[in-house]
Amino acid sequence: MSNKHYDVIVIGGGLAGCGAALAAARNGAKTLLVERINALGGAPCTMGVNPFMPYKTRNPETGEVIPLSRGIFAELEDNLREVGAMRHNAFNAEWMKIVLNRMMLASGVELLFNSVAASVKREGDRITSVTVSNKSGLVELEASYYIDCTGDADVAMLADFPYRLGRPGDQLCQPMTLCFQICNVDPEKFDEIQPTIIPKWQEEHKKGYIKNPMTEIMVFHTPIPSVVQLNATRIVKKNPTDCWELTQADIEAREQIVELYTFLRKFIPGFENCHIVNSAPQTGVRESRMIDGEYVLSAEEMKDCVRYPDRIAAGNYDIDIHNPEGSGTSHYFFPQGQYYTIPYRSLIPKNAENLLVAGRCISATHEAQASIRILPIVCTLGEAAGTAAALALKANCNVKDVDISTLQKTLTDAGAFIG
Ligand SMILES: Cc1cc2nc3c(=O)[nH]c(=O)nc-3n(C[C@H](O)[C@H](O)[C@H](O)COP(=O)(O)OP(=O)(O)OC[C@H]3O[C@@H](n4cnc5c(N)ncnc54)[C@H](O)[C@@H]3O)c2cc1C
Repeated sequence: MSNKHYDVIVIGGGLAGCGAALAAARNGAKTLLVERINALGGAPCTMGVNPFMPYKTRNPETGEVIPLSRGIFAELEDNLREVGAMRHNAFNAEWMKIVLNRMMLASGVELLFNSVAASVKREGDRITSVTVSNKSGLVELEASYYIDCTGDADVAMLADFPYRLGRPGDQLCQPMTLCFQICNVDPEKFDEIQPTIIPKWQEEHKKGYIKNPMTEIMVFHTPIPSVVQLNATRIVKKNPTDCWELTQADIEAREQIVELYTFLRKFIPGFENCHIVNSAPQTGVRESRMIDGEYVLSAEEMKDCVRYPDRIAAGNYDIDIHNPEGSGTSHYFFPQGQYYTIPYRSLIPKNAENLLVAGRCISATHEAQASIRILPIVCTLGEAAGTAAALALKANCNVKDVDISTLQKTLTDAGAFIG
């Protein structure tokens, strides 16, 4: 048992967890952030995800550009720019780790790395401790409030709060993708050739010898001109919360990397001398468990741009569903100038008294999650959860009873946009 008692423990140091820990600490809570690996950032480090997906809209009448993800996310982007770690929307994930460490330490967040949440004690609807497994053994940690930012809702699951997996009916999740990078690409040719990569891949795909079901392969810039990022493998019909199936996914994805690399070298000018330079430590999971919360965010309400009375974040990224069964990706693009909001209730597991959830595993339908999952938005969800936990602490109340107008004012005073 750790002899320290924290006000707030955040589990998971992705952008949701970073937003949550910073907001909790800055609002006066003694905060611990627990992370499974040795660095912050989440999917950009663990799953090789890059770049930031778009998060701005333009008012069609005035032409005004409205950033929908601000607050801590905007601060992170500024800090990355300052160290020269941003190009277009792409960022250098190594610098992101450093920048996030500095932000945490400057705000007084305590960090515990290399520690995996392994079990949870619960009395009634309150969590009383979270035990992590690490090189010291099993370490029990106590706090007044907990924020689950594990991406997979591990803490909510371990505490037996209800959750769903994937889409209704067959529980299939969006496909997994092992991201990787290719170096020694001719940067002069890349800009010109980039639009031709998908048509050429699809032409070869039609011939029937390619096993990877993904037809719209994504090849992005990185901040290093001769290195490109591929979000281009696709593993379908595997459960991302079953480690046996995950292992199969890893093996299959690695063969798809070979297939893609061979294709690029053979058919794409500028890639003749390229090399595989790295693959992510973990096959990327777009969707897995989603909590059953006090409110379930739906795509229908997003499309209607509902302004929830307890809105704490906003977004307009398209409803981007990679086919859970094979090829193809469906999209719903929000019209320019329009955006949806996200209610605070979708961060609260049903009946939970001192647990909040932020990130891609909030209470949302399969379709709604397909939009809210992007890096800028999860950071804003984390910021809202951290702020709410700090306010609950001050008021000594359950997370459900946090005063919404104080929460919204605290968020907007700190630079957040809530619509
Ligand atoms: C292949 C792929 C491509 C994507 N492409 C883009 C893109 O181009 N742009 C974009 O904006 N978004 C993209 N996304 C979406 C985005 O990356 C994720 O949805 C987002 O990172 C989720 O953030 P999170 O903080 O909820 O979870 P994560 O980023 O996954 O962070 C969770 C953190 O918790 C830690 N953790 C997990 N379990 C435990 C535990 N039990 N104990 C302790 N720590 C734990 C993990 O190590 C991790 O650091 C992509 C996702 C994938 C998978």
